[in-house]
Amino acid sequence: MYCNYCGKSIQDDANVCAYCGTRVAGVIARKRLVRPRENRKIAGVCMGMAEYFDIDVTVVRVVWLITAFMTGIGFIAYVVAWIVIPDEPYLLPAQAPSGQPVRNP
Ligand SMILES: [Zn+2]
Repeated sequence: MYCNYCGKSIQDDANVCAYCGTRVAGVIARKRLVRPRENRKIAGVCMGMAEYFDIDVTVVRVVWLITAFMTGIGFIAYVVAWIVIPDEPYLLPAQAPSGQPVRNP
């Protein structure tokens, strides 16, 4: 992958650009659990979990659904998560920290 700041080619798993020191890993850099605005099926809860824990969203959905149908807790947990987890903030250039990639230019 390439650094968004200086444009140099860097390691795929790098968190920080080796050339300019800018944080480059958008998903990893996201420390807060939020519900992403894109790719969500219902409220983005599973998508948020997947991004936060860095796992496949499909795995999250399957596990969540199995839990929901087996125990019923999943349904309640989803609604609770929907209420508790905030929406992902709109990434406006003015609000983005310096050097962080803007996903919706
Ligand atoms: Zn760089």
